[in-house]
Amino acid sequence: MPMILNIKMYKEVIEFIKGVFPDQGFIPLHEPRFVGNEKAYVNEAIDSTFVSSVGAFVNRFEDDMARISGAKYAVATGNGTSALHMAMHLVGVESGDEVITQAFTFVATANAISYLKAIPVFVDISRDTLGLSPKKLREYLQKNAEKRSDGTYNKATGRRLAACVPMHTYGFPCEIDEIVAICDEFEIPVVEDAAESLGSHYKGKHTGTFGKVGIFSFNGNKTLTCGGGGAIVTNDEALAKRGKHITTQAKIPHKWEFNHDEIGYNYRLPNLNAAMACAQLEQLEPFIANKRALFEMYKEFFGKEGMPQLYSERGDSRANYWLNVLIFENQDQRDQFLDETNSNGVMTRPAWNLMHRLEMFNQCEHDGLEESIWLENRLVNIPSSVRVDALTK
Ligand SMILES: *Cc1c(COP(=O)(O)O)cnc(C)c1O
Repeated sequence: MPMILNIKMYKEVIEFIKGVFPDQGFIPLHEPRFVGNEKAYVNEAIDSTFVSSVGAFVNRFEDDMARISGAKYAVATGNGTSALHMAMHLVGVESGDEVITQAFTFVATANAISYLKAIPVFVDISRDTLGLSPKKLREYLQKNAEKRSDGTYNKATGRRLAACVPMHTYGFPCEIDEIVAICDEFEIPVVEDAAESLGSHYKGKHTGTFGKVGIFSFNGNKTLTCGGGGAIVTNDEALAKRGKHITTQAKIPHKWEFNHDEIGYNYRLPNLNAAMACAQLEQLEPFIANKRALFEMYKEFFGKEGMPQLYSERGDSRANYWLNVLIFENQDQRDQFLDETNSNGVMTRPAWNLMHRLEMFNQCEHDGLEESIWLENRLVNIPSSVRVDALTK
């Protein structure tokens, strides 16, 4: 029986969101805000003539990212996808290997696995965290993994399980300590896709710093942006050094000689973008406080009778609330809401199409993805930008 849709409720939501972001025609899902030193630092970079792949802001950005994340080392990259590509390369993912990740993620996670000619294996997420489920991960590994002298193999496919890439969905931390413990048991390195979770902490520790390597993104739609940018973080000095090396064409430093000792990549972050990133990082805390206050406003509003459920962080985490999440009772309600909001100047978006449905990945192994599918049918992201009028200076 089709659910009776409550049109009045949708109108109320649209009115509320328009009130939260006043004096705006169309309300996007997530807009960048440049209210700090962005222009000053970019001008400084231009005046220095160092606009390209080396410069003071690149070094400062790497220092800032290490300090903010609490990781020992950070390497700047041109974007989050290239950071992911390099992170998996650094932990030894090779052609023909398998990499365990979520089907419920942005396509960049699965694409980066493919750049190494490795094959994604999709394990289910948890309804509780929206991220990789430790329970499902353990079940999958207990059923399929076999430790051999040269690595852990998938009994079903005969391929090596070379890495596990959990993702902190929409900035909400997954149960990363448990995931790392399980992967340690099976001797599988963890690469954390923390692209969406800059400023999010799990049990007091910054996301991206639990696994062997973590990555962040500074794309235009993320919590902070520098146009395009990324970072790799790690506590492993050798890995950090090699990370810097292979993202900068693997050139051996020398006064005049061009010598390279392996196939490198031009995955550098231009100093111009690093300048913007440094200015944005100065505002991370006020931006997150602002986004958390927005969540509180949404919480009060959606706490009313008949409203969809607003997803909130767990007690063990502190989320950056990059994107707020509504969960509807069924797909009909979700579709109606998407339709009403997007036709009335309020941008809302469903979950990404699950990776195992995409043409490139529809042959990949998965564990049934029960919770991923449940959430895919019900979840909607609502406008979550920083409200400039409410920023404390
Ligand atoms: C944004 C994002 C990326 C990629 O970052 P870019 O900087 O856009 O390349 C990777 N993974 C996830 C989960 C993302 O949301």
